Amino acid sequence: MPQLHPDAYEDNVPGKYYIDKTCCDCGLCPQLAPAVFRPSEAETHSVAYRQPATPDEVAQAEDAVAQCPTSSVRNDGDTAASQPSKAGSVSV
Ligand code: SF4
Repeated sequence: MPQLHPDAYEDNVPGKYYIDKTCCDCGLCPQLAPAVFRPSEAETHSVAYRQPATPDEVAQAEDAVAQCPTSSVRNDGDTAASQPSKAGSVSV
């Protein structure tokens, strides 16, 4: 089962793309990839509200990854078909 990345805002949907907690709420990623990202309900950051489902949406999400000024749009989250974790331990 996909899980949120530890750095992700809790209101992202699980999956490869997410917004981490360094987002400064500049509003760029919802403009670049409106099918994937939108402002949070609290309007304090953006979130991934769905995962890209088409090549165009993937391209838009990758554009947001490349252009986010704080590198907060991430593409290293779990995917629905993710393989069993080999690095499942959490260091404290
Ligand atoms: S582009 Fe980056 S800083 Fe701007 S709203 Fe999206 S995640 Fe936040």
